[in-house]
Amino acid sequence: GQCVAICPVGALGGKSSVDQVLDVLADSSKVVVAQTAPAVRTALGKAFGMESDQVVTGKMVSALRAIGFNYVFDTDFAADLTIMEEGTELLGRLTHLIEGKADARIPLMTSCCPGWVNFVEQNYPELIDNLSTAKSPQQMMGAVIKNYFAKKLNRPRKDIVVVSLMPCLAKKYECMREDMSVEGDPDVNYVLYTRELVRLIRFANVDFQSLPESDFDSPLGESTGAGTIFGATGGVMEAVVRTAYSIYTGKPAPKIDFQELRGFEGIKKATIDFDGVQIKLGIAHGLGNARKLAESILNGTSDFHAVEVMACPGGCIGGGGQPFHHGDMSVIKKRAAALYDADRQKSLRKSHENPSVQKLYADFLGTPCGPVSHRLLHTHYTNRRKIVGVYPVYHESTKENGA
Ligand code: SF4
Repeated sequence: GQCVAICPVGALGGKSSVDQVLDVLADSSKVVVAQTAPAVRTALGKAFGMESDQVVTGKMVSALRAIGFNYVFDTDFAADLTIMEEGTELLGRLTHLIEGKADARIPLMTSCCPGWVNFVEQNYPELIDNLSTAKSPQQMMGAVIKNYFAKKLNRPRKDIVVVSLMPCLAKKYECMREDMSVEGDPDVNYVLYTRELVRLIRFANVDFQSLPESDFDSPLGESTGAGTIFGATGGVMEAVVRTAYSIYTGKPAPKIDFQELRGFEGIKKATIDFDGVQIKLGIAHGLGNARKLAESILNGTSDFHAVEVMACPGGCIGGGGQPFHHGDMSVIKKRAAALYDADRQKSLRKSHENPSVQKLYADFLGTPCGPVSHRLLHTHYTNRRKIVGVYPVYHESTKENGA
């Protein structure tokens, strides 16, 4: 089970990712586990003749089961977990700032978008220490499946194959980074993006529209509305605020919907009152805006405490692996509206209220940003500025891992 590094469409003569996933599904010695990113469910329906703004979560889960996945988990669960870690990290850095410590590294910059992380490593390595050390939801889910769920199943981690369904091309390379494998066994084995998932469903001859709605498997399938809105620009920051406010002030936030963090302006700025402490937030989507935001941090013309950056226009709903939008913002806006609707319909809308996340900390992880979390859910970054080429260091680590 290597993390797929070859040409994703098989154009270079290797097997395509879809074919490799079909092979592993046919291998009865493996437990094959799917995880699905928030953005995928907003774009899949249209490929099967449904409305473009319909969220098709239940049918997507049924399709994955019909195709042969043994378990279907929700990356939204891991998004909630990311918020626990990243929110705790933000509060730690703010405390250092207030205490006047030199290592405060403010603003905290989100790290869930590998397109943005690569961009920082290659273009703004001076800002590497500002990146949250929290792994992305995809990688947190992989680590939890291989280190926790495998034990629950009483199977060695190498028997478990994790397949991510993502809106994203950069996720295919993220799973090859250092820290994302144990002894050559990657936490995430294969990444298919939405268009490839469409091919997989077509190949399996599943009549998508007539499928029943099913729920994700337990215990890594439960999520809050905060995990759902990760797919849209501003969603990660809103999720962070919902949780960090409660942890910081000891009170629930006065509202759940933070409209000031939503919308499609290239760079959004907002100040949120944390019970007397003014927290300044910046949000950018698209790499042009990311560059402007990074420059403003470096030249001191901005004074944010935390920034969220998504490399794709509109966030992951506009990801390069999604079908049908071709950069059309009207489609992307519909997908965002669908995610905010799905959030409103959730009974739990704050990550720290997710009972399965609470149980994972109680049973296995201990406390957010504690030693087990640090080992499994956090990572580090590398200055890649001087290295010519797009993903050179990944090839190195791939070799070392023998994958
Ligand atoms: Fe991937 Fe784009 Fe989402 Fe970043 S914004 S994680 S590059 S789909």
